Amino acid sequence: MRSDLVVVGAGAAGLFAALTAAREGANVTLVSARPLAETASYWAQGGAAAALAIDDSPAIHLLDTLEAGRGLTKRSTAEVLTNEAAARVRDLIELGCHFDADRHGDLALGLEGGHSRRRIIHAGGSATGRRILRALSAAAVEHANIEILEQQRVRGLLTGGGVILRDGDAIQARATIIATGGAAALWSRTTNPPGSFGSGLILARAAGAQLADLEFTQFHPTAVVGLKGREGFLISEAVRGEGATLHDRHGERFVDELEPRDHVARAIFDLPDKQAELDMTHVDPGRFPNIVQALQEAGLDPTKQRIPVAPASHYVMGGIVTDLDGKAHDRLYAVGECACTGLHGANRLASNSLSECFVFGRRAALKGLDEDAPTDGDVIEAEVDAPTRETREAVWELAGLERDAQRLQRLQQDPYPLARLVAASALLREETRGSHGRREFPDTDPALDAHHTILDAGSEAPRFEAWTDS
Ligand SMILES: Cc1cc2nc3c(=O)[nH]c(=O)nc-3n(C[C@H](O)[C@H](O)[C@H](O)COP(=O)(O)OP(=O)(O)OC[C@H]3O[C@@H](n4cnc5c(N)ncnc54)[C@H](O)[C@@H]3O)c2cc1C
Repeated sequence: MRSDLVVVGAGAAGLFAALTAAREGANVTLVSARPLAETASYWAQGGAAAALAIDDSPAIHLLDTLEAGRGLTKRSTAEVLTNEAAARVRDLIELGCHFDADRHGDLALGLEGGHSRRRIIHAGGSATGRRILRALSAAAVEHANIEILEQQRVRGLLTGGGVILRDGDAIQARATIIATGGAAALWSRTTNPPGSFGSGLILARAAGAQLADLEFTQFHPTAVVGLKGREGFLISEAVRGEGATLHDRHGERFVDELEPRDHVARAIFDLPDKQAELDMTHVDPGRFPNIVQALQEAGLDPTKQRIPVAPASHYVMGGIVTDLDGKAHDRLYAVGECACTGLHGANRLASNSLSECFVFGRRAALKGLDEDAPTDGDVIEAEVDAPTRETREAVWELAGLERDAQRLQRLQQDPYPLARLVAASALLREETRGSHGRREFPDTDPALDAHHTILDAGSEAPRFEAWTDS
């Protein structure tokens, strides 16, 4: 089989990349391992960030992004994102996405932690991911140039361009775009679907790409805890943006709810029982219908009761190293959560990730089409099986919010390669910065500003590299 472009993954990044290329007249094969509803994109609640308000600008959005990244955000990447996000929102509307509007008919803009302006577009209240994914997948299914292979896992890459599927079929293409999502489900307590265990990172690494910053895992502060059937269910940050408050077991507030995620997560984790109660009884339930409904179905009424919450692994800022066009290696591109563009630095700013999927999904699709026609080459296979329950529990226990050399060295003995790479990266970074906290090194080391943790292909020993425009 032959195509202009193979896109691996049908989340926000993969669908947007596929549609961009198809709209340019290219033939695209879109491969997805899991059913649509199991992508992290489908579960996204809050929305996507873009400087659209009159009192906002790409420059202000850039400053907020740099601030959240704690000295590790790559400025050139953040400039691209903040300059191009608004245009991608317009593309989404053109592709059939309907976003919530205010009473004047203008886009309703939400506020989330770390953002100094209202700039989060959303759909169906907190059903943003579901609404966007429905519209994009409908557009992809209808597009004559896109062939969709559902429930097919990619297990290898072709050096001459393209992929090998689990059943052994080969698809040749000018370029391959990996859009396989993140790796937060490598941690047992997570907000992510089970497929988010980093298979794209393993594929790209096998092909020779570098990985970076695997120690930076964002722990979302408000994931439901102790509620049967809803363990890890996310209560969007936007709920706090609309006035929900956090309380300790004595009912006292203990943190500014709109501080960046790492601060709020750590403040909860530092409470004696490592959990808090979220009070959203004063928030309009009509703004977050699917959150309210999901909790009510599980037997807890958030319009009347406080919700028990605790941090859970949510987003891995690290991933496959790419340039500003998503390029990671020969004929190989990575976009969305699997990529490390340098945008998020040490701590992702809420709702920048969906925008990243669209901005860099488009750039990679356009650049990938410039590659030469595919040639015959070698097959590079990778071990893309999911981690065991034991590994996932070990990663949560040994590389969760509480990290020290002893725990991380224990994790380095794990049989699962990606777990070992997370441990090695966290061990090298002897400081506390953003989402990465080391018990023995509670301060940020200014000497490590702009220094990213690089894993070269074939090596399990990370090294620091300064990204000069970080
Ligand atoms: C509960 C929740 C809420 C969130 N809310 C927000 C929000 O409000 N705003 C925001 O900006 N971000 C949010 N995020 C983060 C954001 O949703 C993700 O970063 C983003 O959707 C990732 O999109 P993606 O396209 O990179 O990957 P995904 O949406 O995870 O899609 C990955 C795709 O790759 C496929 N795949 C994986 N491995 C293979 C393989 N080997 N072969 C073939 N296919 C493969 C999967 O089947 C899937 O189709 C949230 C995340 C979660 C979990």
